[in-house]
Amino acid sequence: MPGAPKPQGGEGTPSAKRHDVVICGASFAGLTAARELTGSGADVIVLDRYEIGERPTSACGIPTDWLRALGLMEIELQRFPELVVHTPGGTIVLDLPYTFSTFNYGDMCELLARECDATFETATVTGRSTGEDGEITVETDRGPYTASLVVDALGWRRILAADKGFQPLDAPLTRALEVHPTGSSGDLEVWVDRRYVPAGYGWSFPAGEEVRVGVCSYDPYSHVRDGTDLLAADLEHEQVRYQGNWIPHRLRPATEEGVFFAGDSAGQCLALTAEGIRTALYFGIAAGRELRAVFEGWQTRDEAATRYAEFCESHRRGFGVLLFVQRLIPWIPPRLLAPLFRIYRTRRLVNLTFDAYLRVAPPDFADDGSAHDEEGPGKQQRDAEQPLRAERDFVKAE
Ligand SMILES: Cc1cc2nc3c(=O)[nH]c(=O)nc-3n(C[C@H](O)[C@H](O)[C@H](O)COP(=O)(O)OP(=O)(O)OC[C@H]3O[C@@H](n4cnc5c(N)ncnc54)[C@H](O)[C@@H]3O)c2cc1C
Repeated sequence: MPGAPKPQGGEGTPSAKRHDVVICGASFAGLTAARELTGSGADVIVLDRYEIGERPTSACGIPTDWLRALGLMEIELQRFPELVVHTPGGTIVLDLPYTFSTFNYGDMCELLARECDATFETATVTGRSTGEDGEITVETDRGPYTASLVVDALGWRRILAADKGFQPLDAPLTRALEVHPTGSSGDLEVWVDRRYVPAGYGWSFPAGEEVRVGVCSYDPYSHVRDGTDLLAADLEHEQVRYQGNWIPHRLRPATEEGVFFAGDSAGQCLALTAEGIRTALYFGIAAGRELRAVFEGWQTRDEAATRYAEFCESHRRGFGVLLFVQRLIPWIPPRLLAPLFRIYRTRRLVNLTFDAYLRVAPPDFADDGSAHDEEGPGKQQRDAEQPLRAERDFVKAE
């Protein structure tokens, strides 16, 4: 395997170099797109304002099978076969049809990057322009980068959009904040409780020697600092190492004027649960595969854009159902939550809904067939059931 992308460019080194592909954003979506292009011979550059894996903004919970499919089981910190749901009327334990795992953001980014033969440069992307020949120029604080194939994997800001992306608060954005105290637990827990947030939920995701405790609000106007502090205090955790960000909860166009958007920049985070890692990985892979086919001469950029847009569009129903339930939850009287979750707990219902939920972005899409030698509870379960397989500004504002 080629080595990790090589940081290049010193202070004030403008680059006007032309590349085959410019990928903006070196997180889940951007790195998987770059990984798909590895070995194609394309000259790929990945731009990010920070070093790879430097700034986590996530509790990093993911279906275990996604780690397995990417060949990244070594970064798994903890694995959970159950989800513990707390409501004002009681606690319900859901026996899940597949497990979830936690990992460290930096570990995943580092391993994904190591499997890329792209070049990496730190640069802050500010915008783009498209020439008459279709060539796209990405503007950055380190100068312009040009390519005919460009990916915006820059997160919710969607900086390469013609309309300059979203501006909170009048946008379909969920607000999320968490603390990372030292501690341990064996349970993956969520709280659907208006004491913490009027519309949204709280969580506790244990990850080795720390616990990630946070709150998200589907209403961007509703602050989450007090709810996060209250939940951490109730769990007797220190309120330290805050990190948070906006999370989109509605799909946005996946392509625009030759630019491919993947992950949060295309609104590809699942509403209701705010799970956006596996979808960013999934659509990053999809975008990378389309671009690779262009580079290898199988299709034109326009054909790739049409195919990618259609692929993304074909997921609208799954995303829409989750958005519908997200909008419904605040209308359910709190006293009804526990009885409803008790009805829902039925094994068939949980399996049906969680399997459908996983199928929105299934792990076998990423599977290259090389990552299935791992033993342990996950393997036994798979064999038995055959499942598909801070921002600093934000924290300050809170
Ligand atoms: C508190 C919190 C907890 C979460 N927990 C989970 C969870 O447990 N599981 C889950 O699945 N999802 C979770 N999410 C959602 C998940 O983090 C996102 O959906 C996911 O990170 C989206 O990945 P992405 O690659 O599209 O974008 P991002 O991860 O946001 O990456 C965007 C990249 O672009 C870079 N960038 C941004 N602007 C610029 C610029 N102008 N110039 C250059 N580079 C730039 C950033 O530095 C970053 O590297 C959580 C979100 C929050 C806020």
